[in-house]
Amino acid sequence: MEKLAPYAVTESVSRGRCHTEPPPRERGEFQRDRDRIIHSTAFRRLEYKTQVFINHEGDLFRTRLTHSLEVAQLSRSIARALGLNEELIEAVALAHDLGHTPFGHAGQDELNICMEAFGGFEHNLQSLRIVDTLEERYAAFDGLNLMFDTREGILKHCSPANAHTLGELGRRFIEKTRPSLEAQIVNLTDEMAYSNHDVDDGLRSGLLRLEQLDAVAIFAQCRREAEARWPGLAGRRLVHETIRRMIDALALDLITQTRANIAQKGVETLDDVYAAQTLAEYSGEMRQKLRELKTFLFDNLYRHERVLSMSDKARRVIADLFAAYMADPGLLPPQHRARAQSGSDSDKARAIADYIAGMTDRYAMKEHRRLHGEADGLRGDNGLL
Ligand code: MG
Repeated sequence: MEKLAPYAVTESVSRGRCHTEPPPRERGEFQRDRDRIIHSTAFRRLEYKTQVFINHEGDLFRTRLTHSLEVAQLSRSIARALGLNEELIEAVALAHDLGHTPFGHAGQDELNICMEAFGGFEHNLQSLRIVDTLEERYAAFDGLNLMFDTREGILKHCSPANAHTLGELGRRFIEKTRPSLEAQIVNLTDEMAYSNHDVDDGLRSGLLRLEQLDAVAIFAQCRREAEARWPGLAGRRLVHETIRRMIDALALDLITQTRANIAQKGVETLDDVYAAQTLAEYSGEMRQKLRELKTFLFDNLYRHERVLSMSDKARRVIADLFAAYMADPGLLPPQHRARAQSGSDSDKARAIADYIAGMTDRYAMKEHRRLHGEADGLRGDNGLL
């Protein structure tokens, strides 16, 4: 690894792991975190979870797994440019979506509604629950026993009520301090990755048209640059040459502005990072351009009637499953059943939410068919589910 900046997270300043373990041989503590995440069950399931398009819509669309890999790639490149801890940032990026339900945001929103009377469902908090308690792999502890800084990065947001239950890790949400720069960067590379790959998937699916995107300044500008360099370029190559320029522009802007903020605020140590205002950010001009792109995607892709129709059906699957398990926990597999039957109604609901959140898209649909029969009307003629 290159020499780290003095404000990067290092093992020596880390608050370490909840359960003490012997130090790893021939690799660092954050490498060990990254390795544990890659070997986890929740990580493998990301392959079959929706980003925007349901997993079996097509083989070329992003899933949560490929999205997470793209976030890790962007994060590492930016971390290296800024002298930050690449191994920590890679671990955070690979784990950032572990807590997502099947069916993307529609699934998560519906599960939150189901859980309203029982403390709600937050996917960031769920990612933390997975690495802290739900993974069952090690003899000595539940979860993956990750480093404090990895867990801090995974918990991007958290409601004040839940923050109070998280001890040291929740403190920054109460005291309103910042997390490490590594955590701040992953927040932005997540958005950078999906804003670009959703353009690509939107065009590939035919839900977006190239001409529509000319109304978006950053796309139009990068397309013009690509066409000036490669006159006559068209089709998939034009799309890719445009998107790679957008990613490049965003990454360079983020690096430049963040570096300027660090210098201007006189940040010299990790404690300075915690105490400062948010340091990782785009320039004002780039923030505006990115906002325009995201608004475009929201209006034209995420709210496209075909995506909305898929989302409605996905919500029904989640709501039906939750209601069925609540009414009869006997429908759950043994270990989840034991948890659901051993405590209060709240414990039962949480055990069910954990089970549903862990499902892949296709497993949720299979389970829905098992409980509600084939004639559930979920295979609509739009081919989205
Ligand atoms: Mg993400």
